Amino acid sequence: MICKGCYADKQLVKAHIIPESFFRNLRADEKTLLLISNRAGVHKKKAPIGVYDKTILCRECEDRFEHIDDYAAKVLVNNDGIEKIRRNGEVAAYRLNEVDTDLIKLFVISLLWRASISRQDFYKKVNLGPLEQKAKDLVWQGSTGNMHDFSFVFAKFDDTEKISKVILEPHSERWFGRRYYRFYIASYVLYVKVDSQSTPEIWERLIPSDNTLFLLSRGKLEDSKEYPVLVDAVKAGSKHN
Ligand SMILES: [Zn+2]
Repeated sequence: MICKGCYADKQLVKAHIIPESFFRNLRADEKTLLLISNRAGVHKKKAPIGVYDKTILCRECEDRFEHIDDYAAKVLVNNDGIEKIRRNGEVAAYRLNEVDTDLIKLFVISLLWRASISRQDFYKKVNLGPLEQKAKDLVWQGSTGNMHDFSFVFAKFDDTEKISKVILEPHSERWFGRRYYRFYIASYVLYVKVDSQSTPEIWERLIPSDNTLFLLSRGKLEDSKEYPVLVDAVKAGSKHN
């Protein structure tokens, strides 16, 4: 089959879109994730440790992502030294210091590209269109482009336990007239701009300019609008066990 990375006719491997390392805090007896779709008529299903696609990448191309994925997991999953920024006593944001923010951006772009080329149903709504090639070129060059290219914002839920067992389908949405994709990964919601317009001013302030990564707080998972959907899915899923 043709690899979408090097375009050679080679044997393709199980390529993860959201890296396996993001699910490492699942217990040993829970090596499946619940995938939740909000499309009508599409039912949730279980998938062994995330979603992989055997139709996109060869071993050599898949290996290109290894150090990027490992670094992103180290920063975002382990998040050692994460600092809470409080406003009026409430956690408003988080700060991670001494982060290679270029490498995190490269991770964001590579995640987006992999989701876009994937034929897995779970990533059906992710289609970068004319920006797909641009995303690929940046990843292959190890470049993050200019500050507005695929600019992103991470938001974090307070708890990590509950959300790590389920993931919601990525989808596109509009923010301030720009097209964004929303991904749920580990305890984060990632918003990434896929639009040739510049970053909305309010989100421009969150573009990393040094080694500091600011993350917005999404508060407690229990208080979120996603929570009822997750609870229903977990309950429905457990009936089949
Ligand atoms: Zn390849």
